[in-house]
Amino acid sequence: MALADLTDPEAVRRAIAEFDAIGRDTFLKRYGFDPAKDYFIVVDDKMYDSKAITGVAHLYQHGELLTADMFSGGSATVANRVGKLGFEVTRPVGLPDWSTDELMLALDLYLRANGKATAQAVADLSAELRSLRIFPDEVRSNDRFRNPSGVTLKLYNFSSIDPAHAGQGMAHGGAGDVRVWEAWAHRPDELREAVALIRAYGATDDAPEATGEEEEYGATEGRILYREHRRYERDRNLVARKKQAVLKKAGSLACEVCDFESSETYDVEGVIDVHHVVPLHKIGVSVTTLNDLALVCPTCHRVLHKHRPIITPAELREKRTEQFGDG
Ligand SMILES: [Zn+2]
Ligand SMILES: [Zn+2]
Repeated sequence: MALADLTDPEAVRRAIAEFDAIGRDTFLKRYGFDPAKDYFIVVDDKMYDSKAITGVAHLYQHGELLTADMFSGGSATVANRVGKLGFEVTRPVGLPDWSTDELMLALDLYLRANGKATAQAVADLSAELRSLRIFPDEVRSNDRFRNPSGVTLKLYNFSSIDPAHAGQGMAHGGAGDVRVWEAWAHRPDELREAVALIRAYGATDDAPEATGEEEEYGATEGRILYREHRRYERDRNLVARKKQAVLKKAGSLACEVCDFESSETYDVEGVIDVHHVVPLHKIGVSVTTLNDLALVCPTCHRVLHKHRPIITPAELREKRTEQFGDG
């Protein structure tokens, strides 16, 4: 039994499913692997220790675990094998770009400190960014990830964008820095509320999982709040109650923006999404009521999430009517 015997991609997928189900620490411990240092398998934007997954995939395919000491080749050989089965393998060298959430936390500090954050405040933010579950553990455990000098540099970037400090910064704020500045700098109180929620949701073991959805990366309110928003929208109980209520009242499940109703066009019932109307940083942690939810078709839903600035279904409906008339 050897590495070359692993030929079934489905076995790899099953190992990954187990990894997801029990979590990284338990998975590695259960099968006796050390955390990977160099090669990771990437699926849906999540990273998996390549050697451990390979060993366990071997177990799923052949009934025998390939233990850490049974691999003849080095990590590169392992990566090559999984790569041949159609999986993306990565060897992270650099650090990921700052996410919107992280930029929001940094901007909040910048604004509160009036551009003059103390070394202690910088160190605290660095520690916090390393612990919040915006990026996966493997990324955050890199020693260089959001270290104090990285945070300091980011604050410099904001001062180069800040009209009040023009000329003092390093004058190379990235596109993300500018986007976050424009979205939030003029409403520091709302930023503070949003940042408080990012902290609350992002710090717990129960932090919402990455969705892998394109909209997550561009979300104005950052990844954590986007994931939380989607968690509400996918709550089957809540969705069922909303659909039932609308069906009872209106007799059909039509999109509140464009009136699309799947059963009319395709003879298939209920192809409709539920969208959470209130921006999460505004509703805080209060209980969601059915009135906070709107029924929208999948297309209009994506448009709602991509639209800048944030727009409600009623506003989008108006815009659509203006553009295309009423029929
Ligand atoms: Zn629609
Ligand atoms: Zn939504």
